[in-house]
Amino acid sequence: MKNEFKRSKIQFCPVCSSKKIENSFINFDDRYGQPDLFTLAKCKKCSAYYLLDPVSSTDIGKLYKKYYPSLNIPPGQGSKIQKILSVAKPLLHLVKKIDATETLISRVKNDSSVLDVGCGYYPRLKNEIDDKNLDWEGLEIDEKLVKTINSAGLVCHQGSLASFRSSKKYDYILMSQVIEHQLQLKEAMEKVAKLLKKGGKCLILTPNTDNLSIINDVKSWIHWHTPYHTVLFNLKSMSVLAGINKFKINTYKTYTPTNWELLTRNFRSPIRGQKNKSFHYKFSPLEYFLVSLSLRIRDLQKPSCNPCMFCELEKR
Ligand SMILES: [Zn+2]
Repeated sequence: MKNEFKRSKIQFCPVCSSKKIENSFINFDDRYGQPDLFTLAKCKKCSAYYLLDPVSSTDIGKLYKKYYPSLNIPPGQGSKIQKILSVAKPLLHLVKKIDATETLISRVKNDSSVLDVGCGYYPRLKNEIDDKNLDWEGLEIDEKLVKTINSAGLVCHQGSLASFRSSKKYDYILMSQVIEHQLQLKEAMEKVAKLLKKGGKCLILTPNTDNLSIINDVKSWIHWHTPYHTVLFNLKSMSVLAGINKFKINTYKTYTPTNWELLTRNFRSPIRGQKNKSFHYKFSPLEYFLVSLSLRIRDLQKPSCNPCMFCELEKR
């Protein structure tokens, strides 16, 4: 059967450029119903996983437009809980600590300049920026999303990291669940290095494949997220990426956001080409709270094997 979108052929690891593959397997979109098959390979040298046949840069916009729901969120939508708690900031901070959903902005020092790559939009974004008096700029691919962010009174550029041009140097570059979507990782990281001041920080949140060591069914790991995730890291491959681009790793830790755990527990692989109904899971506040507490304990017990990694890279 013909593929729906044009595909690229990746000949070497996007992290370390090695051609040696430890193993590979076939996967498909198990969330949004894109029907094509893709091949995931594990690099023998740095242990990064990457797609050998991702959707090409000419068609990637069409893939996201047709299948990826976050690009179709109307402005001003947010959870009721978030809206209610936004009037009680200390309580909101506490909840975010308990369920491990703190944003990267919360890790930035006050009065800093920030480029937030793939910033997305949520109702509290402007408040978070104003509270820290940040000189903040967003960068988003999707034109509609850029307009939404601009209409909230924020500066947001349209484009990818690889295509972004600026003579400004930033204190921070934020990449929250973004680096694993890159089609041009090398160009993107070169751009990050160029845009940061000396001593500037790149803060990254991304899935951690060391988590595979503690789960039973590797293929049903929800963070393969094929074909949207093109490269997946663990501590080893992140260290290689940092070294190649002359960054040092200041902080590395892993944890489990509560919503990730609940989605994982409920996840059932769908028939290929069908939307996954198990991926939208409703839970009671009590269940959410109890699961959150048990996860914060697990984070401490298994500090390197949780599914989400936080990494602070410093430009040397
Ligand atoms: Zn590699």
